Parts: sequence; C-alpha cells; structure tokens
Amino acid sequence: MELNEQRYFIVLRRNKKGLSRGTIGRADAETTEGELIGMVYGGGGSTRSSGTVKKHDTYPLSRHQAGLLMLVCPASRRLELLGNLQLFSAICELARDDLVMVKHKKSFQPCLVKNLVQIGKKDKPGDLKVLGFELELVETENEISLKKTSPLPFFSAADILQVAPSDLNTRIPLRDAIDLGLKRKAVSLLNSLPALNSRNAKKGSVLLKKDASESIQALSHYSLEVGSMAEVLSLNGLTVYGVIRWIGVPEGKKNCWAGLELDTEATTCSDGTLGTKRYFTCEVNKALFVPLTNCKPDSRFLLIPDEMLKPLNISSATLMEDLDEDVPPVAEQDVLSHLVGRMKGIQGHFNSCYLDATLFSLFTSSIAFDRIFNRSADSEKGVSHILRRDIVNCLRRSGFVPAENVMKFREQLGCKSFASEEKDPEEFITLLLQHVLHIEPLLKIRSQGEFPQEAFMHQIIVEKNQVAAVPSVQQLLEMSFVTSDLKFEEIPSCLIVQMPRFGKKFKMFPKIIPSTDLDITDILHCSPRECFLCGHLAEYECVQCLMDRKLQPGKIKQYCSTCNTQVHNHPSRQEHTPQKLTLPDCPPEDAPVQRHQMQLFAVLCINTSHYVSFVKYGPDPRSWIFFDSMADRCGDDNKGYSVPVIRSCPEVGDFLSQSEEEISSADLSQCSEAVRRLMADSYMCLYQTTDCQQ
Ligand SMILES: [Zn+2]
Ligand SMILES: [Zn+2]
Repeated sequence: MELNEQRYFIVLRRNKKGLSRGTIGRADAETTEGELIGMVYGGGGSTRSSGTVKKHDTYPLSRHQAGLLMLVCPASRRLELLGNLQLFSAICELARDDLVMVKHKKSFQPCLVKNLVQIGKKDKPGDLKVLGFELELVETENEISLKKTSPLPFFSAADILQVAPSDLNTRIPLRDAIDLGLKRKAVSLLNSLPALNSRNAKKGSVLLKKDASESIQALSHYSLEVGSMAEVLSLNGLTVYGVIRWIGVPEGKKNCWAGLELDTEATTCSDGTLGTKRYFTCEVNKALFVPLTNCKPDSRFLLIPDEMLKPLNISSATLMEDLDEDVPPVAEQDVLSHLVGRMKGIQGHFNSCYLDATLFSLFTSSIAFDRIFNRSADSEKGVSHILRRDIVNCLRRSGFVPAENVMKFREQLGCKSFASEEKDPEEFITLLLQHVLHIEPLLKIRSQGEFPQEAFMHQIIVEKNQVAAVPSVQQLLEMSFVTSDLKFEEIPSCLIVQMPRFGKKFKMFPKIIPSTDLDITDILHCSPRECFLCGHLAEYECVQCLMDRKLQPGKIKQYCSTCNTQVHNHPSRQEHTPQKLTLPDCPPEDAPVQRHQMQLFAVLCINTSHYVSFVKYGPDPRSWIFFDSMADRCGDDNKGYSVPVIRSCPEVGDFLSQSEEEISSADLSQCSEAVRRLMADSYMCLYQTTDCQQ
C-alpha cells in the first residue's frame, strides 16, 4: 500500500453512500477492488463517520491541501478551487508577505499573507487541522501602506483569487512551518517567521496596476491554461484526465496544442516529448499531446449548474456530515440562525405547497414520526429512505430542501397525480403514513363502546350552535367526540385534527383558537376522570347534561355517584340517562386524577388554495415560525424557481398566551399577518404527547 503521502482525498462524485461532492476524508487502506477504507471529516475537521468509497470517485490530496480545503464552504467550492490547480498549488506554497488578491466585502483587495492559522480548537489525534490565512489589507488609494487597524478575519484558500508571482528560492512556504510544533491556542498562529524581505511594496504596485475587473473576469470564466485540470476524450472513447503542462504550437503543426500530464499511464504516451522535441518532463507514458480544442475543463471539478441555484450560505459543517445519520430537529436556540430566512425550508415547485407545508409541519420540530424511519421495511432504499435522507435530514441539517429532492420524493409516491396535481394534505398524509411508510394508524377510537376503529387523523364534526362563536380546538374536539360518542382507546403519540371546513372555500368558523395544550383526559376510554362538580373520581357520564345552561354548556360532564344523584334530582334533568364509566381495575382511591395533555407542534393553514405552515419549535411559548414554500419567486414561470421563506413569529406565541376570552374578542385587523392567518386559515392542528417531545 502506498498511501503514506497522499492518503487524504476529496470526493468528486456523489456516491451511493451519500457522500456529497467535495467531502474530504482520509484513507487508511485500499482494497483490491479499488475502494478506499477510511473516514470523512465533518465541520471543524473532526472525524464524522467511517466507511468505504470508490477510489475513482475521489481525488488525492496532501494533508496540507486537505486542511486548506476543509475551511472552504460550500463543499462544491472546494472542487472549483482544486480545478484551478495552478492557483491552488500557488496557494499551498504561500510564504509570509506574499501578495495575494482576495475578495473582501464584495470588492477585490490586495493583501499580504501574514500567517497560516489553525481554525477551531479541536485537536484530537486523528482530527484534520483546518487551515486558513491571516491576511493584512494593503491600502490601494495613494501609496501602498499597511493598514494597522483591527485584524482581518481569517481567510480560506478559496478567498484567494490570485497569487503574485514571486521568487521561489528566497522564501519558506508557510506549510513547512507547520511541523515546527509551535504552541497553539484556539486559533493558533502556526507561523511566526520574520518577514523575509521587503519585496512586497514593489510586487504590490505591479499587481495593483492590473484592473481589478480584468482579474475578476479571468477568474470567473473557466479557461484552460497551463495548470488547468482538463479532460480529453481519447480515441477509444474513454475520457482521460490530466493537468495541462504546456500550451503552444508544436513543430510541424499550425494550431494550438496542449501537452497534458495524465493521471494514468497509457502506452501511446510519452514523458513530455512530441516527435523529437521535449516540451515538458513527466513520468514515462503519461504525457499526451492533443489540439487544445480537444481539451475541456475537467468536468469532475465543475459545478453542476443546478447547484448555482442553491443558497451558498450553508455552513461547511452541514455539508460534511454523513447523510445517512439521523438528524434530530434543530435545537430551539439555533432555529433563528439556522432556519429563519429566505431560501429556507422546503422549496416549492409545481403545485407542491400541500406537500411542502405538510412535510414541514410533520418533521421540523416533532420527532413523533422519526420512529417510523427506524422500523420502516424499506429503510435502506425507496421512498421512505428518500424522505428521511433527502427531505427530513436535509431540512434539519442545512435548513433548506431543494425542489429536486421534493420532486424525486413525489415521483416515488406510487401515484402519478401526486407529482403533478394539487392535493389535500389529508390525502397525502394517509398515503404517506399508510401506503408509503406502512405504519399503524395513529388513532384508535372507540365508537359507542364498540370495538375501536383505527384512523390516521380526526375530522371535527360539530354543529355550529354547539360551541362558542370563536371555538378552541379543545372545545371542538371534545364536542366532536361527545356528540358522536367517541373515546380514544389509548393516548395517541400524535394527533392530527382536521378543522371543520368543507373544501377550500367554506369554513364553519371564521376564527378558531388553536389550543396550545390539548387535554384529552375526558375523552379517553377506561381512564380515571374527575367529577365535574366535586373533583372526586367520576363514575358516571351524562351526555344530556352537556349543553345544560346552568352547568357550563359545552363542557363534558362526568360525576361521582353522589353528585350524579344530586344533579339528576333536578326536575329538568330527571329524563337524563347517565352512563356508567368504564374504569381501570384498580382506580387510585384518593390520588388526584392524572391529566393527559398533548402539545400543539404545528398548524397547517390554507388560504385561497395555498397551504402554509406554522411550527412551534420548542417549549418557549414564543418559539413559533411561519413557513411558505412559495413565498417569492426568482425568474419567470419557465426558468425561474420558488423562494421558500421561514419567518420567526414570536407574536403568535404572545397572542396565544392570552385567555380564550381575550383571544376570541381580539380585533384581528390590529394583529400581525401571522396571527391573522393562524386564527382564520387553520386547516389542521398537529399535537404530540409530551414524552415524544425533544
Ligand atoms: Zn362529585
Ligand atoms: Zn345529566
């Protein structure tokens, strides 16, 4: 095995294991089948996961190169930098006081290299040192003078767009100083060599004469030059890769040719000679000469155009993790920085809002459904795998799910219309839970004391006059259960409640209060309940008492045997037929009755056929976000794309913290848009039990 020097690698192709392009790893061994065994690094250079990767999907790096690229994000940018091998080699050889051009605060700035620094404090054995540069701005206005003000932030190798040519013999590259073993701090200076000479001023003036825009152009257009990574389609149809070592018109030819040093040997290749003339020198059988027009930039390093559409502010840490690892919801304190903003959430595309809003509601903060993934039959492949890896993990890890991922998922749903047409969330949820994830129904509901029926959600059915003008979900659910004589057989882990509305237009109530805590104690079968009047253990329940004007109309009524007798002594109630409650075998004698509460974690809303979502992302009452997968659009209908937006809306929490009286009498025209939409447009409320919360 010859992995000593170049045992680091970068992933060139997204592979089956889900390693994204640009992932950096270290190979510890190589199998005879051409697979590298080793590990990949996460953000900060710590080892993230181990496994294997096909060698031909990777490109070898030195430790120094790996350290420099580690700081570059997003990961695809690393390949872009590596594709310009000449520049990258120069960056790897930088010495103190070398002059470089960087992009700083949207303009191009000449800087002097001051130090190579290690970023981050982790330095466990096996970790990769993440390397950046400490640079000093060179003033460009009149004369060149060094800015002595506050230190600049650290720069990654990708920030350096140009390196001024310098005399290689009189300098010591910073990389060679790493092994001096200097003491390190959290951000440590790895090099404190004295300035070698004062070439900088002269060199600066040379570079500064260049029009900045010219260098921008040269850098932004991918051009082939000496040092570029290129690919050539060989005569036998195979693509070969190499570095351009020479460009010119060879003897006896009329057009421009390139001399490449190939990655691999080929018997028809030379060691740098063409005909009788030597143009460069390399190992035997590796030099290939072809017309320059036959060369293309090495596609392994090029950005895929689609990736340009994606936001580039994903932190490097998020791209580096193993995509197969389960990702927990974003912690409450990190939501504002990680999730809120433009191009956040699930990107809408082609009538997908029903699906985006439903998935966002189900998976952003709740782990009620995470267990599905662990026991789902096809967890290693297929649609549940796509859902987990490309949507849920992607959303929680990077805060953004591109539309392609959603489309891939839609196409796998097994029914063509889900990929193209607008659907109802309830239709989608049933398909998702029942036919795709094959999970058992969430609800077991006993109707009129009979065998329990199973369901995935509950549709509220009430008469308008049975509840308040502005009812709460608590009232609606209780009334819906009592009037149909329903009981939960057991406490559901997740309860999805559909609001009373028909189709997209008609809603029974102009406003509904989404109760943040839902108490299901009194609609739970075979569970101890409190007497409505005295609070002792109830033994009877009376449906006819439900709307009694003297007894809090609308509240469920159950009584102990004493109160039951007293209440029904009243002439107006003598016709009532209270039912004996089913109780557990050993009801606690004097212990207070335990309440069973569920917590609201999301509200799906609809307004004029467009679905959006509110998610409660933590225990703090103000931890609310609003999500719209098509909040904005870039470009036209054909070529453009939706801009999904997540907004923080703590005022929703403030509003819901008021009493029900205050909420129902509030003037919504005086409230924020988020509060208005939550109150007026609710379509589904999603609850989970406390033991399912984060
Ligand atoms: Zn009582
Ligand atoms: Zn009664």
